[in-house]
Amino acid sequence: MPQPTRVTVWHEYRHEHTDPRVAAVYPHGMHAALKAGLEKMLGDGVAVTTATLDQNDNHGLSDQLLADTDVMTWWGHMAHHEVRDEIAQKVAQRVREGMGLIVLHSGHYAKPFKLLMGTNCHLKWREVGERERLWCIAPGHPITAGLSADYIELEHAEMYGEPFDVPEPDELVFVSWFAGGEVFRSGCVWRRGAGRVFYFRPGHETYPIYQNDEIMRVLANGVRYVAPTANTVAYLNDSPNIGTPLSPTQ
Ligand code: ZN
Repeated sequence: MPQPTRVTVWHEYRHEHTDPRVAAVYPHGMHAALKAGLEKMLGDGVAVTTATLDQNDNHGLSDQLLADTDVMTWWGHMAHHEVRDEIAQKVAQRVREGMGLIVLHSGHYAKPFKLLMGTNCHLKWREVGERERLWCIAPGHPITAGLSADYIELEHAEMYGEPFDVPEPDELVFVSWFAGGEVFRSGCVWRRGAGRVFYFRPGHETYPIYQNDEIMRVLANGVRYVAPTANTVAYLNDSPNIGTPLSPTQ
């Protein structure tokens, strides 16, 4: 039997303590909902750990846990700046070594994501609870497996709009339309070193986005898609020259 994919759900976990609307949607924290949703979708195929910003000096991310993580999910918003640079660098380096990273919603400004993108990751936003349709523009892509329609509809969402200041994605899976007229690249995949990064837009804290089965289906598919494979190879050092170099005197 194959080993379960080891997932670490990292969560800032601040809004739940300061905003009763968020606590009402996620009484045990957004990380608990993400863990439950992934376990519901993937069953024995996944072993989920959670870690939070205020857990300890390492934000719950010990070197051992980082080494033992196949895929990390990252949700942050109000406290990106409180994530220690050293930890952000370690997360980014683990991606280059083969760990998958799923960056959620306002995680577009998370330190590890910005390190891996190399851009400012700006976007437009508006919060009026408008309708969103996430159009699947890559039918047959593994991240869209099991979806019942060409799009996922969210009745109430925060709007994110283009331009989204990120490098051109290696794979573009979802493009969102919003009732206010904007569009946004909501599902993007990049390769960085031996690892993969999947950015998935939905997940504003005042809406029950991570209790939506279609959203959790996409995230479960994403976990499978960005997980390292048996032949994932991390190039951690310069490679020696292959063959015999010519001597300059020859
Ligand atoms: Zn938001």
